[in-house]
Amino acid sequence: MARELLTARLERKECISEVAQCYHFTFVIDELESFPFTAGQFVSAVAPDANGKVQTRAYSIASAANGNKFELCVNRVEEGFFSNHLADLPDLPIGSEIQIHGPHGHFILHAPITDSILIATGTGIAPMRGYLQWLFPAEGQDRSNGKQIWLVYGTRHESDIYYQAEFEALAARVPNFHYLPTLSRALESWTGLRGYVQEHVERILSVRAAGLGQPFPAPAPDPTTPTAELNFEIYAYICGLNEMVSGVRERLTAVGWHRKQIVFERYD
Ligand SMILES: Cc1cc2nc3c(=O)[nH]c(=O)nc-3n(C[C@H](O)[C@H](O)[C@H](O)COP(=O)(O)OP(=O)(O)OC[C@H]3O[C@@H](n4cnc5c(N)ncnc54)[C@H](O)[C@@H]3O)c2cc1C
Repeated sequence: MARELLTARLERKECISEVAQCYHFTFVIDELESFPFTAGQFVSAVAPDANGKVQTRAYSIASAANGNKFELCVNRVEEGFFSNHLADLPDLPIGSEIQIHGPHGHFILHAPITDSILIATGTGIAPMRGYLQWLFPAEGQDRSNGKQIWLVYGTRHESDIYYQAEFEALAARVPNFHYLPTLSRALESWTGLRGYVQEHVERILSVRAAGLGQPFPAPAPDPTTPTAELNFEIYAYICGLNEMVSGVRERLTAVGWHRKQIVFERYD
């Protein structure tokens, strides 16, 4: 069945890292009064390539639902068709259009909200930004229920820590949000965390367990409980390229995490 295509008009485009060639986009769907979605979902963007073949690519929505707007965070992939098509959309005069369908996907926060560790690399930050806007809106009711939310963000260089100022401001405003960017190729001047995201997740969990007086690793859930009935006090949400996602899943499994506690989205 053909999916209903929506036309999204570019309202704002900003290069957020020259080095990584990463762009932030705001689109408006003029034909809709509102474009409802759950934070963490994606849209499918559709366009013909140079041979007239229709190409479709998924892009996580980098914002929480906001009227008829949605935001994306996309980096150019070498030789890639769609990422370059988006990155090349003219920003002036503003008003280029793209076709999309959606929202789609199940990479959404578990309800009710629990302590959560958000782990991302590169543009895998997009759905995390959506979660954080939804959990901690600038105006209106905080939806975090006072639960602890960690964002562990891995990238190579300081120049490609996307939305750094925004997350730092959020961490300064909200005591239960913890922002942990980590660099794999940091300069000597970098005073923050170093290495890959995997290396930090376990430490965060062991410190949390110690603070709560809980054993670490946690004991496995009762095997007689049906999986559908399992609920956990903490969930992990992982987004990025497969290699990182698999690495983090392995680490979490090694410290006794149940697969149901690990929610993930792979970009490749
Ligand atoms: C659910 C979902 C959500 C996604 N959300 C985002 C998002 O928010 N932002 C974003 O930038 N991308 C996102 N992606 C990836 C996106 O869909 C495309 O795969 C990416 O933009 C490359 O498309 P392309 O047409 O430019 O390259 P293609 O022409 O499809 O591929 C060119 C080459 O690059 C490789 N490649 C494909 N994807 C990547 C990648 N992400 N990084 C490095 N190499 C790659 C391919 O294996 C291929 O060899 C998401 C993917 C999924 C499945």
